[in-house]
Amino acid sequence: MVEVVHVSQVEDRVYALNEAGKTVMYLIVGKKGGLLLDTGFGLCPLEPVVRKILGDKPFFVVNTHSHVDHNSGNNQFEQVYVGWMDEPQAHHILSQEDIRRNCDFFLQPVIARGYDPAGWTPGPAPKIIPVREGDGFDLGDIHLQVLETPGHTVGSICLWEKKKGWLFTGDLMLTWEVWGHLPTSSCLRFYAESLEKLSKLPGVKWVFPAHAATVCSDNPDDIRMPQKVIQTYVKGTWDIVNGKEKGQEYSCPMGSLSGKMQCVRFETGGMVFDPVRIG
Ligand SMILES: [Zn+2]
Repeated sequence: MVEVVHVSQVEDRVYALNEAGKTVMYLIVGKKGGLLLDTGFGLCPLEPVVRKILGDKPFFVVNTHSHVDHNSGNNQFEQVYVGWMDEPQAHHILSQEDIRRNCDFFLQPVIARGYDPAGWTPGPAPKIIPVREGDGFDLGDIHLQVLETPGHTVGSICLWEKKKGWLFTGDLMLTWEVWGHLPTSSCLRFYAESLEKLSKLPGVKWVFPAHAATVCSDNPDDIRMPQKVIQTYVKGTWDIVNGKEKGQEYSCPMGSLSGKMQCVRFETGGMVFDPVRIG
């Protein structure tokens, strides 16, 4: 059986669940309970993976945003929390055509390794609970606070653990270019403002992104990023908004509203944007 989810520890009490090298979900383990951040494509049953680490403690399931590679396993759980602006999208049911298109676009590498796509049955959770700025998840000794950070999607949220200095950022910042141009993205100026808000958090120890370059590394530094990535993204994104950087033409199969996309690369990562949606 092909390994679909590779589990590694990236910090004391934080586990990365790397699904086929595509999406990194996280399991955060508190004294009272846990929190599963994102459900990936949901290529395999996630609850057994969670139970192996968490035992029988209760756990929350939260989505960083409503994209197919982050919420398709939601139907494996009774209820899932999502940022309120992404809540409408969280009810979306993929058509057979969508499923086929996603298999072609995202899942070829894992299918090539022996995964049978007939077993992939993505879907929404029966109950979807919208969350807002100031909401939080209490795991006993660990408290994760919701930060609204429109950008990659209008309803993207980050989770912030103040005492530990952990910042879970979904798709806002990656080690390669992020997609800020999508029809579901905010205008770029709001994206820059979200990044700037994150840069003002005191004592960020680690940034935990929702994608990593590796398929199954056990080295935490292949997944987590140091605080300075936030400054890199803040400066790079404001330079685009302020017209200092124009970037290069970029072609993305997901498309944008204008059909014309540009990309600026940063020291770490980069930004794809729609030049008519600077804001
Ligand atoms: Zn996304």
